[in-house]
Amino acid sequence: MIRFLAFEKTKMPDLQKNYVKIAASSSGMGYLMAEKKTAAKKAEKKENNKNTWLKYTETEVKEVFEVCEGYKAFISDCKTERECVDEVVRQAKAEGYKDLFSVKKVKAGDKLYATNMGKAVVLFIAGSSPLETGMKILGAHIDSPRIDIKQVALYEDTEMAYLDTHYYGGIKKYQWVTLPLAIHGVFVKKDGTKVTVSIGEKEDDPVVGISDLLVHLSADQMEKKASKVIEGEDLNVNVGSIPLADEEKDAVKANVLKILKEQYDVVEEDFVSAELEVVPAGKARDYGLDRSMVYGYGQDDRVCAYTSMLAIFHAKAAERTAACILVDKEEVGSIGATGMHSRFFENLVAELMDRMGDYSELKVRRALANSVMLSSDVSAAFDPNYPSVNERKNTAYFGRGLVFNKYTGSRGKGGCNDANAEFMAAIRAALEKNKVAFQTSELGKVDQGGGGTIAYIMAQYNMQVIDSGVPVLNMHAPWEITSKSDIYEAMKGYEAFLKEM
Ligand code: MN
Ligand code: MN
Repeated sequence: MIRFLAFEKTKMPDLQKNYVKIAASSSGMGYLMAEKKTAAKKAEKKENNKNTWLKYTETEVKEVFEVCEGYKAFISDCKTERECVDEVVRQAKAEGYKDLFSVKKVKAGDKLYATNMGKAVVLFIAGSSPLETGMKILGAHIDSPRIDIKQVALYEDTEMAYLDTHYYGGIKKYQWVTLPLAIHGVFVKKDGTKVTVSIGEKEDDPVVGISDLLVHLSADQMEKKASKVIEGEDLNVNVGSIPLADEEKDAVKANVLKILKEQYDVVEEDFVSAELEVVPAGKARDYGLDRSMVYGYGQDDRVCAYTSMLAIFHAKAAERTAACILVDKEEVGSIGATGMHSRFFENLVAELMDRMGDYSELKVRRALANSVMLSSDVSAAFDPNYPSVNERKNTAYFGRGLVFNKYTGSRGKGGCNDANAEFMAAIRAALEKNKVAFQTSELGKVDQGGGGTIAYIMAQYNMQVIDSGVPVLNMHAPWEITSKSDIYEAMKGYEAFLKEM
């Protein structure tokens, strides 16, 4: 009985197909035409299918995977804004970029970089036209949600040593417990010496972490709502449990301090002038049996930062000056000296114009107003596990390329930078000309929530700005997921923008 069913299932379609063939061939040419029609239909279907994987040649697939190897290495090594700046500068120097502040004169074709307090960086390729005609700007952010260590942090409770923390950016706190965590950052001592810290990334490094209650005793906890299950003040990082011999009070804490003194030459007071960030420990990895996706920490927004950086590296000097802005503090509102609200970029444009021998305040204003910008940040990818939060026609999907959000915001587009249709049209044309796959999206259904990025800040200069980026799953979770083909298309899209605009 079972065998028979299996036979019927596998054989029937073949028999049916033969029957159709015979029927068609009885009318002579009809059969051939039917064959041609199916081939044309297949080609059309392939053309209309928005999944980029189907369009790639073998060489392109290889290129997609190669680009993503570089990307995985970048996000594995760079887990703080400072680490990102150091690596971007290292790669920029290798590409022939010079520190803007180290040169007196700038001529067309010169490649320059400038850093802001070690936490933001801007790259330029000087154009042959006067700067006042405007720039082509790529922008992204290099800070990511995480858990920061407080200024007064180290304490002992019940013979365990802990670091007290304050989370940074929007996180679901319950996602950050029971994970291997690493500590990245700097201590700056009173004499100005900077001590760089990275604990938890090397194979034989210890990791730290935040505990959760055992399920056996969680009857009360399980009744709480998700926002209260793990509370902000309870995100305490366990860093030790061996008491220092002969120490009477807080001996475990004393032992941790002894280790910090031995390994980093810092004392407890140095936490006051430190920036230590607790992040998921470990490298980015391929995700999926087909290795089509990247699993890694901090892809919001290093995925757009890395691809924007590659695009300017691949760009040729042109008439208009090209710029790539990688900023800090986006996840907390872009404020502060290293965030997009700072005058840093505006000042740089003045410095650059001065070095191009053409400075005036009016021309700086014109340079900014005449610029065009892709403000890149990750977009929410459609998640088949949670389909209810999206409206399917206006949603970003994995494998469909670079995403454009004409507007973000919340409720009635509140707080959005609604890009001009004219600008979107010019971008569309540039992308199509360069065969870049792109899609458009909204951040979720109307009234479901919302978000924003740095676009509106740059729009204040009266420049044309649109939100674009890469779709991501698990956004703001310790481990985020992206599609390799979208990463590749983003890079290609940014290249096309710099080439055509
Ligand atoms: Mn972001
Ligand atoms: Mn974010």
